[in-house]
Parts: sequence; structure tokens; C-alpha cells
Amino acid sequence: MSVADEFVQADQQYAATFTKGDLPMPPGRRVAVVTCMDARLDPARFLGLHEGDAHVIRNAGGRAADAIRSLVISQQLLGTREVVVIHHTDCGMLTFTDDALRQKVEQDLGVRTDIPFYSFTDLEQSVRDDVREIGTSPLLLKDIPVSGYIYDVKTGQLHKVE
Ligand code: ZN
Repeated sequence: MSVADEFVQADQQYAATFTKGDLPMPPGRRVAVVTCMDARLDPARFLGLHEGDAHVIRNAGGRAADAIRSLVISQQLLGTREVVVIHHTDCGMLTFTDDALRQKVEQDLGVRTDIPFYSFTDLEQSVRDDVREIGTSPLLLKDIPVSGYIYDVKTGQLHKVE
């Protein structure tokens, strides 16, 4: 059985007791979270989110540059008015450089690319950079709260980055 088949089985259990079919499309708590795709992070659980509460935009590293498109849609069309950036300890983005990954892609796939992978070397600074990028993007709303945190994969705790 493939993992996809397992997912369908799990969904059947979820759907059996599902009662949230009438939620509106705009997030009820008017917030967008930008965070990493890391499998150890379960933002809905550690943030206390339920269906319909928030946009959770995930990518490798939880990088702002990769999330701008979704944030524009979130703010302009679906009414979110706060952004929370959450990076985390032991992030895979700390383990490689963009150049090294480009070389690996070229070796493995025979393709040269110059796409940015947004790897980083300083975790706290990566959060500050992304909070600033979101706060200053010409495509995003000004004068709304944008805050940044680091999630500790060892303890499950969030720490604010000032
Ligand atoms: Zn990560």
C-alpha cells in the first residue's frame, strides 16, 4: 500500500465525524503564518489552530521570499491582517548552501539552475530578515503586526525573536 492509500484511509476516519463543512473561506482569526515544511512541526497543534482559523503557508525554511505570492492573496482577497513568521531549531536550511545544492542538482539531473534556495546560516537573523521583508514588501500591507519566532524542536516551545 502506498502512503497515498494510507492517507485515503485516514481521511475516511476524519470525514466520518467531520462537522466543519460550512466554514467561510476567509480565515476566522485573520492571520497568516509563514513556517517551515519540516515534518516535525505541527503548527495547527502548537499554535492551537482549528479548521478555518488561519492561513499556514509552508515552504523549506519558512522563507518570506517564497511566501509573498500567497501572502498577497491572503491579505488582498481573504482579509488576513497579521503575519507570524516561525522558523525552527535544527532546520535543514542551515545544513547546505545554495551553491552546493545547485551543484547537486546539476550532478543528479544534468540541469543548471540559478534559482534561489534561500538557505541561511544564522537562524535568528533569518527570522529578522523575513519579518523585515514582509513588513517592507511593496506588495503587502503596511501597519499590520508582523512578528517572528523560533520553534524549538526539542521542547515544542516558541521563542520570540526581537
Ligand atoms: Zn526547517
